[in-house]
Amino acid sequence: MEKYGRLKVLSFESDIIDKSGYKRKIVKCSCECGNIKTFRYGDLRSGRTKSCGCLCKEIVTKHDDGRKERPHYYLHQTWYSMMKRCYNIKSKPYKDYGGRGIKVYQEWHDYENFKKWILQNLGERPKDYSLDRTNNDGNYEPINVRWATKLEQSKNRRK
Ligand SMILES: [Zn+2]
Repeated sequence: MEKYGRLKVLSFESDIIDKSGYKRKIVKCSCECGNIKTFRYGDLRSGRTKSCGCLCKEIVTKHDDGRKERPHYYLHQTWYSMMKRCYNIKSKPYKDYGGRGIKVYQEWHDYENFKKWILQNLGERPKDYSLDRTNNDGNYEPINVRWATKLEQSKNRRK
């Protein structure tokens, strides 16, 4: 049986013709959460769809508060946006980060290393805090990061 993420293909349904006139294969799938829904086969093959939607919901709620199942999801978000700001020239804040030569400590390019260091040295992020660089012109590196509130961060910018 074919499986894509949480979805198991149960059967092929009749093809549909989409708005642009392409023929699309439709499959009926069961999701690990118990839901049964139809999907475009192509979306499964390309990896665009990995669950009935429950996966996204989980990620969003876990990010907000539920830290039980994936306790450090927020850290992954922190890491991801830090990497994006510094290395993705297409990201909006890039010009203020990567564009200004701000880098991420080499070892932290690996999320697991980053997570380990943060938890050992800064501990869990307190509510309403985010990762800040003490020296606004410095890199994301062990001597230059802390958890700070938005207010602390903006004071920091003005220096
Ligand atoms: Zn599901």
